[in-house]
Amino acid sequence: MKRAIILGAGISGLALAWHLRKKNPEIDICIIDPQKRAGGWIETRCIDAYQFECGPRSLRFCQSDLNFINEIGLSSELIEADAQAAKKYLVFDGKLIAVPPNPLALLTSPFGHLCMKAVFGYPFRRKAKCDDESVASFFEKRLGRGAMRAIIDPVVGGIWAAKPDAISMKASFSALPKRSKMKLYSFRNGVEELPKKLATHFAKNLHLGVVPKKIVELSDRVVLECQNETFEGDVLFSTLTVEKGAALLQGDRVLPLLPHVPRTSLVVVALGWKKEDLPFHGFGFLCPSQEEGGKLLGISFDSSIFPQHNGPFASRLSVMIGGRGDESFCEKSDDELQSLATRYCKKYLGLGVPDVAHIVRAKRSISAYLIGHMQRLSTLEAHLAPRRIKMVGAGLYGISVPACIQQSQKIGMCS
Ligand SMILES: Cc1cc2nc3c(=O)[nH]c(=O)nc-3n(C[C@H](O)[C@H](O)[C@H](O)COP(=O)(O)OP(=O)(O)OC[C@H]3O[C@@H](n4cnc5c(N)ncnc54)[C@H](O)[C@@H]3O)c2cc1C
Repeated sequence: MKRAIILGAGISGLALAWHLRKKNPEIDICIIDPQKRAGGWIETRCIDAYQFECGPRSLRFCQSDLNFINEIGLSSELIEADAQAAKKYLVFDGKLIAVPPNPLALLTSPFGHLCMKAVFGYPFRRKAKCDDESVASFFEKRLGRGAMRAIIDPVVGGIWAAKPDAISMKASFSALPKRSKMKLYSFRNGVEELPKKLATHFAKNLHLGVVPKKIVELSDRVVLECQNETFEGDVLFSTLTVEKGAALLQGDRVLPLLPHVPRTSLVVVALGWKKEDLPFHGFGFLCPSQEEGGKLLGISFDSSIFPQHNGPFASRLSVMIGGRGDESFCEKSDDELQSLATRYCKKYLGLGVPDVAHIVRAKRSISAYLIGHMQRLSTLEAHLAPRRIKMVGAGLYGISVPACIQQSQKIGMCS
């Protein structure tokens, strides 16, 4: 392969470019993105000394991810989360309860009576063979309905902004990397340092503000028709959502094989207090759908996780609202969203009116993998194997930033 076209300058596209070039230093790469900046959902803003993340706020890295950070020359900027971020809370009966650190502590916690099915039912559990099922069905069978709703539902809301009956167990939980020594990181100037650093390695290869219109695969090359120009390559890698990729592939025989991957929306309200301290320390809390009418996904205690970013603020929080298939929150006014977020901070943390508030509407941002996703993915991979078009990215292979980096590494090193 001499020339590769990459659609999307998010972390998937940039990490892919890195690995393609690592394998083949002579390769010519064009990275195309309609936005004027690289990074996709990763964006750190600093307004009036208040630094906040519009997308990911912390990255769970294992050693191989750290090796990648080292390779791209960003190790010196890496910062590790405070030890107290290991503590997490769940809303239970209107109050914050610390997540028990081990199964024994779980049984003696307020969640204990909900987990009795798991304890007493375990010896009698039939190992039914199931190709795939919803996260709700998997955990209900093992833990019972009460524990699923109190413990699993908020975790699914916190990670995928989804309901557990809507997403696939195999593609979501079982596909989570089983990495023992993972730690939580950011960078000195926020998560956006990561795509910014990668972008400096590809300054000549980035075509930002370019709007693709159509992908045409020919026998000897693939052509990307854009608004004002055309790119040609030996292979084209799309890191777009399935829907956006499909829009460029009109008439292509791959279309019927693309899995349906709905995307959920959420609102992040970043709040800062100059004088008020948090009454709890830890990573934050998650809220099950049975509390707060399902409107609150959770609150991350940003000042507690990365005090390095606090600047003049004593407390910084991110309130995650919406998700779970409810698109209406992105349409609400800033005032409505800020007062809702402030109300939750008052109720659960006793905090008053914040000194600053910034609102991010993350519309259709998180991919939800439906039951049978892995099966459809294998069919798609088999179809694309001999072709000049490849698909990667959070729309198909895992939504976390480390998952995107690892999948891009896999594809890049095999291409
Ligand atoms: C609010 C929020 C919080 C999150 N929190 C975390 C977290 O704490 N930790 C974590 O690990 N992950 C988190 N994530 C998930 C993670 O940020 C994303 O899954 C990941 O950044 C996706 O990267 P990507 O490159 O696959 O896609 P994207 O970031 O979506 O990048 C795709 C790129 O493609 C471009 N594009 C769009 N259309 C076209 C087109 N037609 N042609 C070419 N390019 C196009 C876009 O402009 C974009 O730059 C969060 C996500 C959100 C939204």
